[in-house]
Amino acid sequence: MAPEEQRVPTPTAAASSEPPPALKPPLDPSTLTHRQLREGPFWRKIPAYAEVSEAEFLDHKWQAKHSITNIPKLLAALAGLVSEDFIKDAERGFAGAPMSVRVSPYLLSLIDWTRPYEDPLRLQFIPLQSRFRPDHPKLDLDSLHEREDMPVPGLTHRYRDKALFLPLDTCPVYCRFCTRSYAVGIDTEEVAKFQLKVNVERWQRAFDYIRSRPELEDIVISGGDAYQLRAEQITQIGEALLAMPNIRRMRYATKGPAVMPQKILGDDAWVDAITRIVEMGRKLHKEVVIHTHFNHPSEITAITKAAMDRLFERGITVRNQTVLQRGVNDDVATMRLLVKRLSYVNVHPYYIYMHDLVKGVEDLRTTLSTGLTIEKGIRGATAGFNTPLVVVDAPGGGGKRDAHSFEHYDRETGISVFTSPNVHPGVYYYYFDPIDQLPPSGQARWADPAQHQPMIDEAHAAAIASPQH
Ligand code: SF4
Repeated sequence: MAPEEQRVPTPTAAASSEPPPALKPPLDPSTLTHRQLREGPFWRKIPAYAEVSEAEFLDHKWQAKHSITNIPKLLAALAGLVSEDFIKDAERGFAGAPMSVRVSPYLLSLIDWTRPYEDPLRLQFIPLQSRFRPDHPKLDLDSLHEREDMPVPGLTHRYRDKALFLPLDTCPVYCRFCTRSYAVGIDTEEVAKFQLKVNVERWQRAFDYIRSRPELEDIVISGGDAYQLRAEQITQIGEALLAMPNIRRMRYATKGPAVMPQKILGDDAWVDAITRIVEMGRKLHKEVVIHTHFNHPSEITAITKAAMDRLFERGITVRNQTVLQRGVNDDVATMRLLVKRLSYVNVHPYYIYMHDLVKGVEDLRTTLSTGLTIEKGIRGATAGFNTPLVVVDAPGGGGKRDAHSFEHYDRETGISVFTSPNVHPGVYYYYFDPIDQLPPSGQARWADPAQHQPMIDEAHAAAIASPQH
């Protein structure tokens, strides 16, 4: 008799053409929704843009000129699209908001005005008074304490090897959730801003400081927004930083690709300036990239893809940072689609931030527990290098911490405790879930101001007694 292994049947010709049972069948292409990008003249649904041609809509100068910067004009553009009640709600919402108003026609056209209360883009840019929640009692305006770590106005040096340079304080749009609402945009009824205008003398002081610190290797150029820098200013900043022997990495931060991709398609001077600095950096063996900020899959259209393709052809790396927001992207399906769509247009999903404690946007914040669920739900959906890390920017200046790295997390009081050994060893930082998302027992404790400090003390004691890590 032949040995056992020789009796394994050899597949016949017919059987070998069948896929092995372990292989998954091919997917129906119509289910690959991350590749289905919005195209066509979608803006014509907005009465104010009904006659706007494709050439006009794709012109970044037209977009900038027609961006809406005051409340009456915004509400006028919405006339006929939404109810009178909605307009009144938004009017009262803007009156109580810390951020200025600026919305591009592109952004306004992406909002589904048949469901304005739920639309995830409307939620991010147009406040409604009816949705406001009281601020968390532990909130302050500059929750990340960026100003405490500023050796020069507009230069935050918190991490040992990295600094944040804020060359200006304007953006192509103004987002409700902005962490830098203490400085970005013009004064509002609620907030007198910390001024960070373009000022060459201030920039020079920042450059002198960066040059004087050998440990600094990495500079984030943010703001405000690098989209608002003129081409020659992009060049001036890039050349000044690349000339410093200590600087190895730079990132220009801009929300532009998410709210006005037309600029990348049409503003050749700006794109050429960035390209030149990227190429100059490459020759010096230094990395120069763009960091951007998409929050929802609907923000990525066929226009975005064309813009990202242009940057990709130029060899420019683009990374994305998302803010986790209630009603916008706080479910696994939406975040998975965002991650897949970003990857599809060659943008690396880098971070998902737990929403900072920012004034006037408690309705947008969600719990750490939601962030943990989302991380679990998206890991494995695509390659690891395209899978974002969920982080908490520890209030009080602890810097970014992996959401899983808490020392203690009390889901009843919503208090999580973090340490940051490389930023401030030995210091404990506290993140607070929004109170209306807590169980009734937790909400009852926050309703009593006498309980606030004891709850923090309990969390602190628990973190010391049995740290999670
Ligand atoms: S673009 Fe960035 S800096 Fe400007 S308002 Fe939005 S989040 Fe803030």
